[in-house]
Amino acid sequence: NPTVGVLALQGDVREHERVLRDLGVDVVRVRRPEELAQVSGLVIPGGESSVIDKLSRLFGLQHPIREAIRDGMPMLGTCAGLIMLADSLVDAIDGQESFGGLDVVVRRNAFGRQVESFEAVLDVPALGPEQVRAAFIRGPVIEHVGPEAAVLAGLDDGRVVAVEQGALLGISFHPEITGETRFHERFLAAVHAR
Ligand code: GLN
Repeated sequence: NPTVGVLALQGDVREHERVLRDLGVDVVRVRRPEELAQVSGLVIPGGESSVIDKLSRLFGLQHPIREAIRDGMPMLGTCAGLIMLADSLVDAIDGQESFGGLDVVVRRNAFGRQVESFEAVLDVPALGPEQVRAAFIRGPVIEHVGPEAAVLAGLDDGRVVAVEQGALLGISFHPEITGETRFHERFLAAVHAR
């Protein structure tokens, strides 16, 4: 049984842990390089990407995570986690860096303020015919999708909110709070396939 990690520097770590445990895998919190070395996949939660970025550098995780991405470790990034996986950012805080890996341009806070959070129902053909209930909480939007990345889902107005590239999944919203487990299952399938 593989062990997967949740990057536990800041954000909604616990919710992802719960979804993953319910899916039957062993989960550890990743705060240091030694913990990253023990896992065969990593979830990067929602939260505040500039804080996750700062802490990942402070804890010496930025380079090991970039290396793991280059190495093909499966990762699922939700919201701030998507921002961390984007190759390029719009409206980043001064000096903010991402890990990269997804050939996309992501705009932070693209839907406005916290109070403008909303839920949407999305078609995600890769996950099957049943639609996805998606909670957007000050989420980012994927403004440009490069040739290496594939679109998994968009809003009715065409804005892209989920992409995949190899073993990396990035989504603008929070499946872990609406009872949607299929993105985590897809991530675990990539972990098992490795
Ligand atoms: N606005 C946050 C950021 O820029 C993301 C919000 C979230 O993860 N729910 O990092």
